[in-house]
Amino acid sequence: MIKIEKVSKKFKDLAVLKDISLEINKGEVIAIIGPSGSGKSTLLRCINLLEIPTSGKITINGVELLEKGTEVQKIRQNIGMVFQHFNLFPHMTVLKNMTYAPMVVHQISAEEAEKQAIALLERVGLQEKVHEYPSKLSGGQKQRVAIARALAMKPEILLFDEPTSALDPEMVKEVLEVIKSLAHTGITMVLVTHEMGFAREVADKICFLDEGRVAEIAPPQEFFSSPKSARAQQFLDKVL
Ligand code: ADP
Ligand code: MG
Repeated sequence: MIKIEKVSKKFKDLAVLKDISLEINKGEVIAIIGPSGSGKSTLLRCINLLEIPTSGKITINGVELLEKGTEVQKIRQNIGMVFQHFNLFPHMTVLKNMTYAPMVVHQISAEEAEKQAIALLERVGLQEKVHEYPSKLSGGQKQRVAIARALAMKPEILLFDEPTSALDPEMVKEVLEVIKSLAHTGITMVLVTHEMGFAREVADKICFLDEGRVAEIAPPQEFFSSPKSARAQQFLDKVL
């Protein structure tokens, strides 16, 4: 479903991604891990073209993103993104946060959008917060709303960039539970995370990035029990 071929990205002279190649199948959950500054966020942002690769090829559902004439906006609508800092609209209620984009982009009625929003809020356990403003929610609740909001667009692909890194420890679990409940339901998930236990439990494969390169791709059992690259071994020694 997502094919990344020899993608490189430079910011001025700084080479941040170097010759990244990676394939992600439909419905798969892939965890991207690696040291801070290794290019994880940049790689994720290249998938929905929040960053434009300097070279290389990205194909989603057979459509080449960087080719002239590709309707980038349309492809983006099919890709949800959940950020470390939630990025909810502060001046909108939870309901409005969730109904806004589907109404504008999918042109569904307010009634339909609200019905769908409430069903999704139930799914993340927050139906009682429907009329609250984000400032009234805890970090964990905000992130669960952000996930529900992403789902409201019915994306085929969901990107997570360290979705629990900004949370107090007691809220990490509730967010991971929600992410886990979405895994292997058909949606393709690319998850940048420092939660190694979670990656091991939920991901189908682990992609270890080091200094802008894919140092290793392996199933979690293999990666965590016997990483092949020295860099991955060093990284795991530090974080586990
Ligand atoms: P990670 O998410 O693994 O911590 P990032 O992808 O955020 O890594 O960053 C990789 C490198 O690219 C870092 O050195 C960072 O400073 C640099 N970088 C990221 N975004 C930009 C940008 N917009 N302009 C310049 N440098 C950037
Ligand atoms: Mg990052």
